[in-house]
Amino acid sequence: MPTSTSRVVQRPVDKAHIRKMAVAVGFDAVGFTAADISTTPGDRLGEFIAAGRHGDMDWLEQKADRRRHPNALWPDARSVIMLGMNYGPEQNPLAFTGAPDRGVISVYAQGRDYHDVVKKKLKQIARDLIGEYGGDVKVFVDTAPVMEKPLGERAGLGWQGKHTNLLSRDFGSWLFLGCIFTTLEIVPDDTAEGSCGSCTACLDICPTQAFPAPYQLDARRCISYLTIETRAHIDRDLRPLIGNRIYGCDDCLAVCPWNKYAKAAKEMSLHARAELVAPKLADLVKLDDAAFRTLFRATPVKRLGRNRFIRNVLIAIGNSNSPEYTPEVTSLLEDSSPIVRVAAVWALGRLATSEQYSRMREKLIEGETDAEVRGEWELSKGKKDEQA
Ligand code: SF4
Repeated sequence: MPTSTSRVVQRPVDKAHIRKMAVAVGFDAVGFTAADISTTPGDRLGEFIAAGRHGDMDWLEQKADRRRHPNALWPDARSVIMLGMNYGPEQNPLAFTGAPDRGVISVYAQGRDYHDVVKKKLKQIARDLIGEYGGDVKVFVDTAPVMEKPLGERAGLGWQGKHTNLLSRDFGSWLFLGCIFTTLEIVPDDTAEGSCGSCTACLDICPTQAFPAPYQLDARRCISYLTIETRAHIDRDLRPLIGNRIYGCDDCLAVCPWNKYAKAAKEMSLHARAELVAPKLADLVKLDDAAFRTLFRATPVKRLGRNRFIRNVLIAIGNSNSPEYTPEVTSLLEDSSPIVRVAAVWALGRLATSEQYSRMREKLIEGETDAEVRGEWELSKGKKDEQA
């Protein structure tokens, strides 16, 4: 929730002083922009939603009007302080992509939940700001209807690359963004200048071809959306393309040439926990709810919940071409969650022989009460060329 405090305004704001305050609490990039920006950053959002590319992220559509413009969200705001925190990885994020025994978790989710880390520090700066200059403030980090990336571009932190994420000359692809809206008048910084030039590395590497054009993302095809946001069953056509990515996807971020300027995060709580760097699928597939919560305590993954996480693990297993997972997959065919059962049936169909598959189908389909699980049993077949 936003933080708001009232005071009487103020002496002129010293931007250099605010920058120092921000760096002192752990931010790596700081910029300022006006709240009444004349060109609405929501233009691209409108096109994105009109084309239905937000999938089932209904909250995006519902809050679209408030996201179009800072003053639509808070009419009293005069300035926006944009803050970036570097979460640069220590290892190549793509090192385990395609490893049949491992699941890949996005860099940002391998350490402490950045919402907690960034928000705490934003609040600290907001308190100091009010103490020094008065005014009202609201702080946001990816939990409110704020267009952080266009605001970050306007505040000079970087520019939106062809993959639609913010690129920094100093930190490459790896900046968490937070913002402080304030009633204080602050002289805006220059909009960031930068360019992707003719490079198309991020577009070319995308496993699901989620970019209809440069600077446009169809979230419905993006593995980050599919593995994190969607509550539904993942489209059968997309499952093979997900590979072993079990939470998010870093491919388009990781291949950007601007990462030559990236550096490891200095905020230690954002560093990867060793057990979350490409954990073994054989261990993950056995997690019950309690074990899932323990393993992912304080990380963004915890919010996904055990059932959707196991769905993702089963899809990675289905893509592993490793029949030795068949016993674990079979044990989940009777899981209490239909979302798990659908993924288990699909994975079985990818790994088991036709005979093994048919045997399990005959055993379980009669008692199956969920229409989508029954449908999955009909669609999957097992590997026809490996008859027992
Ligand atoms: Fe494609 Fe992965 Fe980037 Fe999504 S995160 S657009 S799936 S490369």
